[in-house]
Amino acid sequence: MVISAPSGGGKTVVRSGLLKLNKKFAFSVTCTTRPRRPGEVDGKDYFFVTVEQFQRLRKDGKLLEWAKVHGNYYGTPVKSVMAVLQKGRIPVMTIDVKGARSVKKLFPAAVTVFLLPPDLKTLVQRLRGRGEAPENVAVRLRTARSELKVASTFDYLVINDSLPEAVREVAAIAELETRRTARNLDKVESFGSQLRKKKI
Ligand code: ADP
Ligand code: 5GP
Repeated sequence: MVISAPSGGGKTVVRSGLLKLNKKFAFSVTCTTRPRRPGEVDGKDYFFVTVEQFQRLRKDGKLLEWAKVHGNYYGTPVKSVMAVLQKGRIPVMTIDVKGARSVKKLFPAAVTVFLLPPDLKTLVQRLRGRGEAPENVAVRLRTARSELKVASTFDYLVINDSLPEAVREVAAIAELETRRTARNLDKVESFGSQLRKKKI
C-alpha cells in the first residue's frame, strides 16, 4: 500500500491507524537526510542518514525509489520493503507523490492511495495544529499545487475528514485488493491440481 498526500494530509496518522487496526500491515521504514524532529526515533520513524550515506545507498542500488522533498533527500530501502513482504505482511509506504509513481512503475501490483483533506481550510488548520511555522505552511501549500496535479494517476482517492473513517476506507481497499483474482492464481492452481488427481 503506497499512501501519498499533500503535507498535512494525514499520511502519518492514517498509517498509525492502519497498523493499530490490523497486524497484517507493517510500516516499511524509509531513510531521510532531514534532521530528527522531537520524539522521532531512529529506525522506527526513519533511518536518519547523512547526505553522504544517502548518496552511497543510492549509488549502490539499495533504494527502491528516492526523492528530494523540501530540500531533504528521502528514499525507500529495498531491504525495508522485502523484510515486510517476507513476513507475509502488507508494507505500508507513506511517501511523496513522485516516489509513489516510481513504485507503481516498478511494481504495478502496488496499490496507490491519494489522501485528500476535506478542504483547504482544514488542511491549513491541521498544518498549524501540527506546529508548522507560517512560512512552512506556505511552502507546503505551494508544493500541494503540483501534488494535486498527479492525484488522478493514483488508484484510489480517500477523503481524510473523519480519521477513523479514512483508516477504515484504506483498510477496505487493501482487503478488496487482496481478493483480486490475479493475486490468487496459486489458490486456483492448487484447487485445480487436487481436482486433476481425483478420480471422478
Ligand atoms: P502528513 O503525514 O501527511 O504530513 P499528518 O499525519 O502529520 O500528515 O497530519 C497532519 C496533522 O493533522 C497532524 O497533527 C494530525 O494529527 C492531524 N490530522 C490528520 N488527519 C486528521 C483528521 N482526520 N482529523 C483530525 N486531525 C487530523
Ligand atoms: P516529513 O519530513 O514531513 O516526514 O516528510 C516529507 C515528505 O517526504 C512526506 O511527503 C513523506 O511522505 C515523504 N517521504 C518520506 N519517506 C519517503 C521516501 O522514502 N521516499 C519518498 N519519495 N518520499 C518520502
